[in-house]
Amino acid sequence: MKPLKSPLYITKPLLADLNLFQHELQDVWESGWLTNNGFKHQKLEKILRDEVLRVPNVSLVTNATLGLLGVLKTLDLKGEIITTPFTFPATAHAITWAGLKPVFCDIDPSTMNIDPCRIEASITKNTSAILAVHVFGQPCDVDAVEKIAQKYHLKVIYDAAHAFELELNHKSVASFGDASVFSFHATKLFHTGEGGAVVFSRNSEKEKFDVLKNFGIKEEEILSCGLNFKMSELQAALGLVVLEVREKERSERARVKKIYENSLSQIEGVILPIQNQQVTRESLQYFAVRISEKDFGTSRDIVWKKLKDRNIHTRRYFYPLCTEYPHYKQVDSRKVLPIAYRVVDEVLCLPFYGSITDNEAHFVCEAIESLRRGT
Ligand SMILES: *Cc1c(COP(=O)(O)O)cnc(C)c1O
Repeated sequence: MKPLKSPLYITKPLLADLNLFQHELQDVWESGWLTNNGFKHQKLEKILRDEVLRVPNVSLVTNATLGLLGVLKTLDLKGEIITTPFTFPATAHAITWAGLKPVFCDIDPSTMNIDPCRIEASITKNTSAILAVHVFGQPCDVDAVEKIAQKYHLKVIYDAAHAFELELNHKSVASFGDASVFSFHATKLFHTGEGGAVVFSRNSEKEKFDVLKNFGIKEEEILSCGLNFKMSELQAALGLVVLEVREKERSERARVKKIYENSLSQIEGVILPIQNQQVTRESLQYFAVRISEKDFGTSRDIVWKKLKDRNIHTRRYFYPLCTEYPHYKQVDSRKVLPIAYRVVDEVLCLPFYGSITDNEAHFVCEAIESLRRGT
């Protein structure tokens, strides 16, 4: 097989019409209001709350990592936080920056999310919360997590960076837990360049968070030891125009997904994402498969490298696991987290964005098939 003429990357930022963005910026220029809950910020927050996520307490932030840190501070957590090792560094790092200790719990191989059956074994008298991640837009078992949290009086936070617009039985995934955090980084389907949003189940916590994200200032008073993680007007203005084009991007991604699913399901050893019957709207953020070396006959790393030779840039997300970072490494990590250590050697995220053509999507599938059993 010849390589592709122009490279296919893992993603491509969704860009709206520049004229529409300029139109939004015109308003910002005229108002002379560049940050601190301006008109665009108010408008984006309201649209997300009332129309897109349909959850009551939404707060925009400058990025999801600081959103996570702010949530941990708002909920006033102490001690240990149970989380997954199979995530982006931001999840575990936010816990550490909040002065808390991440305790890594193994994952369920089918969803690649924290395995609720293994959470109880990680609970100690110092545990105050569970921080779970809806990895690749696959929802966590929210009911099982909720049950454990109630039994042990723990808070539940979801890193929903991959799960914007993910709905379970027509309800936003952000309706579960005490708080959820979305990322609007440029690589996410819906984005504001850099940015994010936090959703709380209680209004009092959104109010506390809104003060924390502005140095702890409320009106003339300093109420708490805050930081600065507000979203600016420029970010919010970009968000308003990207929102308008996301539905089209979603339908294009659904087209690419269908090609991947139809073609790759024919190849032994390629494990596709599972279908959760409760999901009524998908996030369409990533397309992640697993390469089972035993059944496919070629390792994921060789597939990754050979695809790159053909100008197809896939990603070994999340490689390495958090427990391989020098500051989280423990001698027994591999023994305690056998599933996560297996899955991290199998996962491959394929190029996934709306402007991938049918031919390109088929080419990716054919390239993968050609690598089976090292042929
Ligand atoms: C992208 C991402 C983040 C970080 O989001 P930022 O907005 O870039 O800070 C956190 N967690 C996960 C799982 C992510 O994929």
